[in-house]
Amino acid sequence: MTSRWPQDARCVVNITVDFDGLSNETGKKLLPIGKYSHGRYSAKRGVPRFLELFERLGIKATFYVPGYDAECFPAAVRSIADAGHEIGAHGYLHEAYDLGEEEPFYLRKTHKILTDLLGASPVGWRNPGGGKSDLTIKVLRELGYIYDSSEKAADFPYFPVVAGQRLRDFVNLPDNTSSLDDAPFYRDSMTPPSEVCEQWKAEFDTAYAEGGYYDLIVHPRSGFGSGGPTRAKALENVILYIQRHPGVLFQRQVETARWCLQNPDLWPERTHPWSGRQ
Ligand SMILES: [Zn+2]
Repeated sequence: MTSRWPQDARCVVNITVDFDGLSNETGKKLLPIGKYSHGRYSAKRGVPRFLELFERLGIKATFYVPGYDAECFPAAVRSIADAGHEIGAHGYLHEAYDLGEEEPFYLRKTHKILTDLLGASPVGWRNPGGGKSDLTIKVLRELGYIYDSSEKAADFPYFPVVAGQRLRDFVNLPDNTSSLDDAPFYRDSMTPPSEVCEQWKAEFDTAYAEGGYYDLIVHPRSGFGSGGPTRAKALENVILYIQRHPGVLFQRQVETARWCLQNPDLWPERTHPWSGRQ
């Protein structure tokens, strides 16, 4: 099989972590205390646990952080970057709804919060809960972003075609928020961690067989996340399983995006569904 990946890798693995702290409830106008306090777990327990786990396993990940969570927990967010992981943007109040004409304001607001906190600007973005509009890519490109990890319409990276033109400075790294995301398993189907682990291994097996791209999404919060000890152990077991396979390259999403931008002919193009205003 001819590889499309760096170092002739057979499969590229991006471990991605959506911080989703207090922003998740606050954005829904829920007071994040009592039964709505799951988000506080991200900064206090989940992030330190993930950082320890990733260091022990020798991998670098990408963390998507809402601007509001960076304001609430600056030390936790700094600790992620200090450990060599990538920080991407993930909305301000985790706006899982259409922001309309206000979207550019909030994209810029979170961009400034993360840039001021870390001394470096994020270049990757993941939409919070699905929200995206015809303005999103335009504003992200203006701010210097090079990729979006939100689309669910492909298995492999691809270049968006906007207003009839294939972009050369921006790539889509699709994410699978159904079967490679902890939230639906732990929130919707209440699947036991052992079964989630088997599902994620099976997803890896098929990606590996196809020379594929594997983007696993976890949350450090309690509730629907993987921050707690048993679910973090399930995540560890999946990573250890993947690491036993030869030819697997773990990398942050920024490295995956840069590789795609440097090798554009290896990747297909797809028309951006809202190409009129770009
Ligand atoms: Zn999220």
